[in-house]
Amino acid sequence: MTEVKDLIIIGAGPAGITAAVYAARKRLDFSVITFDIGGQAAWSGNIENYTGYQFITGPDLVAKFREHLDKYSFELKENVEVTGIEKAEKAFIIRTSSIGDISARTVIVASGKRPKLLNASGEKEFKNKGVTYCATCDGPLFARKDVAIIGGGNSALDAALQMMKIASKVYIINNLEKLSGDAVMQEKVRSSPLVEVLNLSRVTAIAGDKFVSEIKIETEGKTSTIPVQGVFVEVGLVPNSGMIDFIKKNVFGEIVVNCAAETSYPGIFAAGDVTDVPGKQIIIAAGDGAKAAMSASRYLSTH
Ligand SMILES: Cc1cc2nc3c(=O)[nH]c(=O)nc-3n(C[C@H](O)[C@H](O)[C@H](O)COP(=O)(O)OP(=O)(O)OC[C@H]3O[C@@H](n4cnc5c(N)ncnc54)[C@H](O)[C@@H]3O)c2cc1C
Repeated sequence: MTEVKDLIIIGAGPAGITAAVYAARKRLDFSVITFDIGGQAAWSGNIENYTGYQFITGPDLVAKFREHLDKYSFELKENVEVTGIEKAEKAFIIRTSSIGDISARTVIVASGKRPKLLNASGEKEFKNKGVTYCATCDGPLFARKDVAIIGGGNSALDAALQMMKIASKVYIINNLEKLSGDAVMQEKVRSSPLVEVLNLSRVTAIAGDKFVSEIKIETEGKTSTIPVQGVFVEVGLVPNSGMIDFIKKNVFGEIVVNCAAETSYPGIFAAGDVTDVPGKQIIIAAGDGAKAAMSASRYLSTH
């Protein structure tokens, strides 16, 4: 490990990809290290709030991002996990799962969020055997089947909007009194005769033989069993911030940043859903990715 890069960008969701576009245009010597391209943006079925596109699917928007990224020359390492970031003299060491250690003068953490587990009995056992965390990725596997979507926020409603075009019946199991997602999405979901919303309900178990065949729920003290072949867990997200421990985070584990995407440690920047910036949206993540790259470039020219 002799080479010291100007910058390492961790993650290639909207924040990391935009940071890469800006870093390339600043002619920085940088690498992007990521599990995948697109992050959560690739999981969204319908995007209607990214300026310039009245409607685009998540996978199509990610293809556009990728096309833009491919215009520039830099090192892109896909299918690689960053496992740690450490301080070294005048640089940071980025530990990875499969390509060894990389050294860089600045880092942008743009590692986003991952789905929260339901922690119901049977969830782990039936993961990928009927239990899934991504309707866009796995929805087509449940064509003409009965499915349950667990959650009541935007992610759950997005999954319901996708599944009501594919499945034969869609239950939304929501633990609150009413759905909490956007009103526009709620209206669309409620307009489908295939969708049944069960409020004040909690999943206690997921069961089956080789694959899921039913869920057990508790609704205001009463238990019942619903036969389903698919369970979409959409109960929220947690930040992927565990790879770094020497910067300030909030109680949710989100990285605290200022309006220039600077963290509490000089030379480390963060952008997108992994930060404490409110509004977990593609356009916000992209804008913050741009700010982080500009701040990293400024830091490099002054240190
Ligand atoms: C179902 C769903 C629908 C949505 N719909 C919309 C919508 O319609 N409009 C909208 O504006 N927003 C929507 N969002 C939110 C939006 O997708 C996110 O706000 C946005 O993707 C955040 O971008 P990000 O780059 O910060 O993080 P992410 O998109 O989470 O990307 C993180 C990146 O980091 C990588 N990564 C994570 N950990 C590591 C690691 N340790 N090592 C290497 N790489 C790592 C991941 O592989 C990924 O590439 C939706 C989200 C979901 C889940």
